[in-house]
Amino acid sequence: MKITVGIPRALLYYHYYPAWEAFFRSLGAEVVLSDETTKAILDAGVHLAVDETCLPVKLYLGHLVNLRDKGVDYIFAPRVVSVEERKYLCPKFLGLPEIARFCVPDLPELLTVEINVHQQYRRTISGLYQLAARFDRRPWKARLALRAAERAQECYEKRLKEGLTPYDVLSGKGLVKKHGSMKVAVLGHAYNVNDPFISLGIIEKLRAMGVEIVTSEMLRSEEINTGADKLEKGIFWTFGHLLMGAGLHFLQQQEIVGLILVAAFGCGPDSLTCELVERFYKRRRSIPVLLVTLDEHTGEAGLVTRLEAFVDMLRWRKAV
Ligand code: SF4
Repeated sequence: MKITVGIPRALLYYHYYPAWEAFFRSLGAEVVLSDETTKAILDAGVHLAVDETCLPVKLYLGHLVNLRDKGVDYIFAPRVVSVEERKYLCPKFLGLPEIARFCVPDLPELLTVEINVHQQYRRTISGLYQLAARFDRRPWKARLALRAAERAQECYEKRLKEGLTPYDVLSGKGLVKKHGSMKVAVLGHAYNVNDPFISLGIIEKLRAMGVEIVTSEMLRSEEINTGADKLEKGIFWTFGHLLMGAGLHFLQQQEIVGLILVAAFGCGPDSLTCELVERFYKRRRSIPVLLVTLDEHTGEAGLVTRLEAFVDMLRWRKAV
């Protein structure tokens, strides 16, 4: 019987799942994903987390419980410190394996590896080799697994640049780009915007209203960097840089008629970045901005009303 490795359908799943899946599969393991988010999964995470924890981390804990209950042999819980030069992920990602261990009882063994591309590149690679050796001790198998991961990730990112969202690609439910009568940028962490339960299906609701949405994942890194270069001082948080760079890039695009910022309750970096992006939009070009803050109590009816009012207002502005 194959060894099973569980991967929570939360947080960095929306960024790196294709690479992780290819890595473990090519080492002969069976990859088991947690189920799509449900109220029970969210409630399990909320119950285990301390109150101040941000919503996405609470949800991550709920997905760990779901995997534990599926009886997987291991759960992959990397410690992702940095994925590019001179930028870091938020501290929650640095302590994620410990948060998982201390908050969720009776977890199977966590497979942790430190990903620190900025300061510890060689150690990161050797950590990945050690992880691979847990499944197959032949070094060439590790090389193949890393190459398979790289290829899968490139292929995934190419699909995103074609105008698809992470959820479109990962769920396999929307592999054709959706056009609409007007373009609206939706900015927020991929793990919030793309989880249909936690975001209350914001993307699909907008598309159903005839809106074409664009997100930061659809941009090339040069576009993000050029956007972010407009700031006097760079943001050293990877996701802050991504949101800010994408926001300032979209600000220059005349076809973008509105911006929706999706923030998570309890997220320190979001409170700063969203405020900054909003100020730029008010000062430089009067594009309407809607801020949606998600928490475990966000109601669907309220969100629909706000989205409908926002889209109606954009249509009215377009018509006059
Ligand atoms: S960036 Fe914000 S939402 Fe994401 S893990 Fe950190 S605190 Fe939570």
